[in-house]
Amino acid sequence: MTNILLFGPPGSGKGTQSTLLAQRYYLMPISTGELLRKEIKQETSLGMQAKALIERGQLVPDHLIVAMMEEIIEAHPEVNGFVFDGFPRTVTQAEALDDMMRRHNDHITALIELVVPDDMLIERLLKRRELEGRSDDNLETINNRLEVYRQQTAPIATYYQQKGLHHPVNGTGTIEEVTRRLYDTIDPLCR
Ligand code: AMP
Repeated sequence: MTNILLFGPPGSGKGTQSTLLAQRYYLMPISTGELLRKEIKQETSLGMQAKALIERGQLVPDHLIVAMMEEIIEAHPEVNGFVFDGFPRTVTQAEALDDMMRRHNDHITALIELVVPDDMLIERLLKRRELEGRSDDNLETINNRLEVYRQQTAPIATYYQQKGLHHPVNGTGTIEEVTRRLYDTIDPLCR
């Protein structure tokens, strides 16, 4: 099994690239942000709990995210593995993911970090707002999301570095340039 964690701040290109990686390596893409937006649209109990937090740029509590991910992983025993986009976002989630992997006799192949400077992230997210109209892509929420990323999510890189699984990749340039760099990094890990 191959399990790729695509990691990076909001606007680093995780969503776009995770779809391409899933196709190349025959994996199932899972985006926690997409799953939560679907829950909000369907007005489920999880969606109601997540809505205000997402609009403020804060994280949804770990236990809700972990339960949602456990359900999805359990429901897809047939896949060759997953590309996770936006998960884990805290060290607690990373530890819970390790537990899930252990229970399934599986492991994380790599944490791939898309590295993009802050000014470029803000520019990309404001452009995405015009194209997709996501309510959390406004300047105030973007700044909160970047701060939450720095405080709560960035430490995960160290967690995986200690396991020898952290691979930083330059996330600037065109989509195609970034995809090529990702393939060059991941291909040798999937042989
Ligand atoms: P994204 O689409 O990945 O940018 O996620 C949008 C929002 O969903 C984030 O700003 C968080 O509020 C929430 N979210 C997504 N993934 C997670 C996660 N793994 N843990 C907590 N909150 C999350």
